[in-house]
Amino acid sequence: MIVIMQSGASEGQIAHAIERIEQLGLKAHVSRGEFRTILGAIGEKRPAHQQILEALDGVERVVPIMMPFKLASREFCAEDTVVEVAGAAFGGPAVAVVAGPCAVEDADMFARIARAVTRGGAVMLRGGAFKPRTSPYDFQGLGEEGLKIMRSAADELGVPIVSEVLAAADVERVGRYVDMFQIGARNMQNYQLLREVGETGRPVLLKRGYAATIREFLMSAEYVLSRGNRRVVLCERGIKTFETETRFTLDVSAVPVVKRLSHLPIIVDPSHAAGSRGYVSALALAGVAAGADGIIVEVHDRPAEARCDGPQALLPEAFEEMMSRIRAIAGVLGRDVAGPQARRRS
Ligand code: PEP
Ligand code: MN
Repeated sequence: MIVIMQSGASEGQIAHAIERIEQLGLKAHVSRGEFRTILGAIGEKRPAHQQILEALDGVERVVPIMMPFKLASREFCAEDTVVEVAGAAFGGPAVAVVAGPCAVEDADMFARIARAVTRGGAVMLRGGAFKPRTSPYDFQGLGEEGLKIMRSAADELGVPIVSEVLAAADVERVGRYVDMFQIGARNMQNYQLLREVGETGRPVLLKRGYAATIREFLMSAEYVLSRGNRRVVLCERGIKTFETETRFTLDVSAVPVVKRLSHLPIIVDPSHAAGSRGYVSALALAGVAAGADGIIVEVHDRPAEARCDGPQALLPEAFEEMMSRIRAIAGVLGRDVAGPQARRRS
């Protein structure tokens, strides 16, 4: 339920409403707007709850949330949420581009690619240190060493980093280095991991499972939000269909559907959907045209030598070309593309 306080409700009335919500065994999520405070009363609902809360002083009305995902729903928050990550912003007027290699291979390669993509307009760096590989015999990532490499390159360039955390037990360690946790497609329904990153309050990039419906995706976001962490950015990265020409099928429709159902920002990963670099730019443009708040893309300057996902990595020149086309599409939509200037201003 959402408890909408009167615009002139006093701090005492708000505090009392929160207390009553908690006495009913529900969790109160406070959202202070310019004109009024809204309280999310989330938990197991009983028929009498609505009447009890409606009778409190200072309460204007109580509205049930119909969707199974509560805090993630548009019903809970009508306005778009903007998630800020150390100077980069997702969900605001500007489209934000995150770029970097699939995996961190060594310090020199990461620094080279990081320089190239930030020069090209990326506002955040990506890179995998703990890699979820289909085969146990494939490169599993450099682990903590990879995160150290990312952190020092990013600090030199003044940009934030996102990297995947694979297990709940690693959250604390990965959190020492990253600005944003990535939850990979294969872990979208690892509820213990979702709870754990929810506890940190640190921004989370939640990738859609490739066999998950949009509603299941939003339920996973709800796990993070329900731990009090509102800084969730969703990522559509392609789903399994009968089609085999591409690695996955980018579900472009997920972008407007998520925008209708949720206030959370959503970005698109064209790289894992495409599986080959020739399709990456087209899918990125489709994502932006559909209303995505950003793109996360894999870039490698020597893709033939890449230890992971080389065939889908853009060369730095192709990344720059894609950026200029993204700027053109964003312009048609009346949006900007975030750049280093925007970052310095914020
Ligand atoms: C990745 O971003 O490197 C990755 C493994 O993506 P996904 O979880 O979407 O497969
Ligand atoms: Mn990859």
